[in-house]
Amino acid sequence: MRNLIAIVVLALTLALAVCAIIARRSRKTNASSVALLLGALIPPVIGNLIIISSTSKGLSTVGCYIYFLGMDLVMFALLEFTLKYCDLSWPSKTVQRLVYSLLVIDGIQLLCNPLFHHAFDTELIMVDGAAYYRLIPYFGQSFHRVVDYGIFFAVLIAFFLKMRSVPRVYYERYSVIFFTMVFTGLWETYYIFSRTPIDRSMIGFGVFGLLVFYFSLYYRPVRLLERMLANIASQMQEALFFFDAVGRCVWANRPGIALTGTRDYEQCAEALKGIFGDMAIESGEWASRRVVNTNGGTKYYALEEHTMTDSKNRLMGMFLSVRDETEQQLALQREIYNATHDSLTGLYTREHLFDRIREALDSAKDTHHFICYLDVKDFKMLNDVFGKSFGDYVLQCIAQSLREHMPNGSLFGRLSGDTFGMCIPAPLFNADAARMLVSDFTVQRDNITHTLLMHQGIYEVAEPELDVSVMFDRAHMALMTIKGDYKRHVAFYDARMREQMLWDQQLSSQLESALREGQICPYLQAIVDRSGTVVGAEALVRWIHPVHGFLSPAMFVPIFERNGMIADMDRHMWRCACEILRTWHNDLFISINISPKDFYFMDVVAELQKIVEEYGIEPSRLRVEITETVMMQDNENRIDILNHLKQLGFLVEMDDFGSGYSSLNMLKDMPVDVIKIDMLFLRQTQQDDRGQTILLNMMNLTNDLGLSSLTEGVETEAQFNMLQAMGCKLFQGYYFSKPVPVDQFEKTFFIQA
Ligand code: C2E
Ligand code: CA
Ligand code: CA
Repeated sequence: MRNLIAIVVLALTLALAVCAIIARRSRKTNASSVALLLGALIPPVIGNLIIISSTSKGLSTVGCYIYFLGMDLVMFALLEFTLKYCDLSWPSKTVQRLVYSLLVIDGIQLLCNPLFHHAFDTELIMVDGAAYYRLIPYFGQSFHRVVDYGIFFAVLIAFFLKMRSVPRVYYERYSVIFFTMVFTGLWETYYIFSRTPIDRSMIGFGVFGLLVFYFSLYYRPVRLLERMLANIASQMQEALFFFDAVGRCVWANRPGIALTGTRDYEQCAEALKGIFGDMAIESGEWASRRVVNTNGGTKYYALEEHTMTDSKNRLMGMFLSVRDETEQQLALQREIYNATHDSLTGLYTREHLFDRIREALDSAKDTHHFICYLDVKDFKMLNDVFGKSFGDYVLQCIAQSLREHMPNGSLFGRLSGDTFGMCIPAPLFNADAARMLVSDFTVQRDNITHTLLMHQGIYEVAEPELDVSVMFDRAHMALMTIKGDYKRHVAFYDARMREQMLWDQQLSSQLESALREGQICPYLQAIVDRSGTVVGAEALVRWIHPVHGFLSPAMFVPIFERNGMIADMDRHMWRCACEILRTWHNDLFISINISPKDFYFMDVVAELQKIVEEYGIEPSRLRVEITETVMMQDNENRIDILNHLKQLGFLVEMDDFGSGYSSLNMLKDMPVDVIKIDMLFLRQTQQDDRGQTILLNMMNLTNDLGLSSLTEGVETEAQFNMLQAMGCKLFQGYYFSKPVPVDQFEKTFFIQA
C-alpha cells in the first residue's frame, strides 16, 4: 500500500514538473503564476514522498522539513495565483506585508526546530510491516497549521465570493477549483485529526495543481462560447437556421423565427419549404437568389447554405442563411431607372435608347426597322416667349403622346433637349401615323395655346450592323432636307443623301490641296456698257478637278458655305482677281463675289484692304459683290461695313437684287454703287407684261437714287435692246460672253499690252 501511494505521488511529482515547465514557457495570461504554483507544489509532494518511503528517522525528518517549508511556499504561490486568477488585489499593503511576514516567521520557526524542538518530532511505528516515522506535533507545528489553514481559507473564501459574483457562464471556471480545494482541505484535515499514519492528502494537492494548470491555461468555457455564438447569430440581420444531419431544424435565430413565423424549430423546415419551395436540405439547392411574391409586395432573398462535415467527411448538419435583399434590390432598380430614364419626360435617355435599339436590331435580324428622328422647330423661341416651364410642359406632352401613339414593340426616348428618337419594326410602321404625330400638335396650358411645328426624319435601316448613332445621323440628315418647306413634316432618308454627304466630305478634304495646286481658279464673264463695250468682268469660281473634271460653283460653294471653308476659297479668288488686274494695263474692273458666310469667318474689309495693298491695285478696279441676304442680317453693322468699303475706294455692287426678301425701300439706305438685278426678272418678262413693268420700275428707282443698274442673264439681242430702252447701264450675260478662262477672256476682249 505504501509503495502504491509512493508510486502515485512520484507520478504526480513528475506530472507537476512537466506542467510547470509547460506553464513557464506559455505566454498565456496567468501562466507565470500557474508555473509558480505548480513549482511550489513539487517540494511538499517530494517531502511527502520521502516521509512515505523512508524507514530511517533522519531521512523522515528531512522529509518533514521539506514538506512543511514547501507548504509555506505553496501558500505564497497560492495567494499570488488566486489574486491573478480571480482578478483581485490585496486589500492593503499592510495586509499583504502581514501575511507574507507570517509565512516568513513560520518558515524561520520551523527551521529553528532542531534547536528548540518546539515544532515537531517523529516516532517510530510499524506500517505494512516496515518502519514508519510518524509526526508528533508541538506548538510550532500548530502555529504552522494556523498560518497555512488561515491562508487556505482566505483563498477558499475568495474563490467562493468570485464564484457567486460572476455570470453563470463563468461559474465553472471558479467552482471546479473551489470544490477541489474544499475536497483537498477536508482530506488533509481528516488526516490530521484521524492521525492515520500515512498522509495521502498530498495526492489531493497534486491533483489540485493539475486542475489549476488545465483550467487556467486550456479550459474554454464551452457554454460561454455557445451563448456568445447564439447571441451573435441572433443579432445578425440574416435569418439563420441550423439543421442536423437528417434535416431537422434544431435552432433558428430571431429573424429566422420572424421569417417563418414559428417559434417551434421543428416547424421551420416546413415553413421554409412553404416560402421557397420543396428542397432537400443537404442538396445545395437552397443556395440561390429568390424572388417571392407576398401580400406585402415582391421580396428578394439571397439564400446561402453551409454544410458541416466531420473529419471523415460525414455530414454533421448544415445551416442556412436567408438575407432579405428587397431594399437593396429596389434601390438598385431605382438607380438603374434613373440612369436609363430622362428625369423630365420619363422616356429612355439617349444612351439607353441606343443600347435598347442595338439589342432589338441584333435579336430580330430578319425584321426591317425604321429609325425616326423627331425635332421640335423653334423650341428655343417657345422657351423664350412662354417660359421654361411651358417648354418643359411641351416636352412632357410630346413624351405622353409618344407613349400613347407609338405601337407596342417600338422603342423611343429623348435624344436631346428638343429631339426625340424612335425605332419601329417595319410591320408596325405606318407613314401616315408618323405624319399625324408631327402635324397639328397643339399644346394648351392655362391661357396659352400653341401649335407646335415638328419635323421627322426617317431612316429605313438598310445596314443593321451600322452604329445606332449613325442611323440617327441619317434620319437627322433626312430631317434637314425639310428646312423651310412648311407643308412637309416628314422626310425619308435615301441613299442619295449619303452619297451627297460622302461627296461633301470628299470635296472638303480636298479643298486645301486644290487651292495650293491651282485647281480652283477664276473664269471671267464680261460686263458691257450701253454701247456694248466691255468695261469689266465678274470673276466666277471654277474647280478643274483632276478626277471629276470641270466643277461649277453650284457643286461646291454651298458645301463650303456650310462648313466655313468658303472663306479660304474666296480669299484665294480675291487674290487671283488682283493678280489678273495687276497684269492688265487698262481701266477694266473685276467684280468679286463675297459670300454672306465670309463675314462670320474673317474681317472682310481688313482682308480686302490688305490684298489690294499687297498687289498695288486701285481699290475702285476691284468691285465687291454682296448679296442682299447679307444686308438682311444684322443690318446696322453691315451698313457700317459697306461705308467702310466705300471709304477705302471700293465699289460695292448689290448682287441678285430682288431674289430675296429685300424691299425696294431698303435700297435708299444702302450705301451701294451698283444694283445687279437678278436674272429672274428678265426671265419673267418673257411670260407677261407685269415682269416688264417691275423691271422698268426697278430701273427707274435705281436711277432716281443715283445708282447704276446692271442686269444679269442677258441672252438675246432683244433683251439687250429692251433693257437699253429701260435705261439700264450695265449688262452681263451669255449674249455677250459666257464665263471663260482668263487667257481666253483676254484674247477675246483686248490685246495684251
Ligand atoms: P452669281 O454671283 O449670281 O453669278 C452669276 C451666275 O450666272 C454665274 O453662274 C454665271 O455663269 C451665270 N450667268 C451669267 N450669265 C448668264 C446667262 O446669260 N444665262 C444663264 N443662265 N446664266 C448666266 P455660276 O458661275 O455657275 O455661279 C453661280 C453662283 O456661284 C454665283 O452666282 C455666285 O453666287 C456663286 N459664286 C461663283 N463664284 C463665286 C466665288 O468666287 N465666291 C463665292 N462666294 N461665290 C461664287
Ligand atoms: Ca455674283
Ligand atoms: Ca448674281
